Amino acid sequence: MIPLKEPWELTVMRSAGGRLAEVVARLREVVAVDMTTLELDRLTEEAILARGAKPAFKGYKVGRAVFPSSLCVSVNEQVVHGIPSKRRLKSGDVVSLDFGLVYGGYFADTAFTVVLGTGDADAARLVAATEDALRLGIAQARVGARVGDIGHAIEMSVRPQGMGVVTQMVGHGIGRKLHEPPSVPNYGKRGTGDLLKAGMVLAVEPMITLGSDDTKILSDQWTVVTSDNSRSAHFEHTVAITPAGPEILTRLD
Ligand code: MG
Repeated sequence: MIPLKEPWELTVMRSAGGRLAEVVARLREVVAVDMTTLELDRLTEEAILARGAKPAFKGYKVGRAVFPSSLCVSVNEQVVHGIPSKRRLKSGDVVSLDFGLVYGGYFADTAFTVVLGTGDADAARLVAATEDALRLGIAQARVGARVGDIGHAIEMSVRPQGMGVVTQMVGHGIGRKLHEPPSVPNYGKRGTGDLLKAGMVLAVEPMITLGSDDTKILSDQWTVVTSDNSRSAHFEHTVAITPAGPEILTRLD
């Protein structure tokens, strides 16, 4: 069963999402060449705590693996779930920041990608296409549509540009838990999958590559990288499905 949120729950989720959007704005301001990814993690955690919320990713468990940080930071061929470290960011790096918080018992989840300093044309093309794919996917998140419509829109927007769609990681429902049903793949057939209803809240999150679709997980048990070493970008919003259309909770008005 896909949980439907009551109006009061959506109110709390708006507060959670608004706080996360403020953290996005803060990180967009500060992320720069020569910073370490650990410094970015510290800033993320401080910004979340300063808003009366808690980091959603720190201590998150998959099997025996425990994620150690508040921020997932994934550089170049890293797709998602990169662990903050002493790595110093360089000009031209494609840096994806993915993070979430819990506020009032409800989760919000978001991600964005930037090219630092002077990047090449492919990096710019990748980031623009991934952000556009997110926008087009969200536009399908309407009452009466199906989960496959979202994935279809995302996939069809990037395939013609020769880009890859990560299929081994997917978006998800979100609410009282970080990951709830349904799964929201970034590919699919129109008119297939779960029916979308008012009160569903989804984390839509295309992960797009400049190469193939295939990914693997590094021995740290977290970092997902492209199998062909091509660069990857990731954008994500937490989106409520309402009778008036998709409402992006993790965006500042
Ligand atoms: Mg997510």
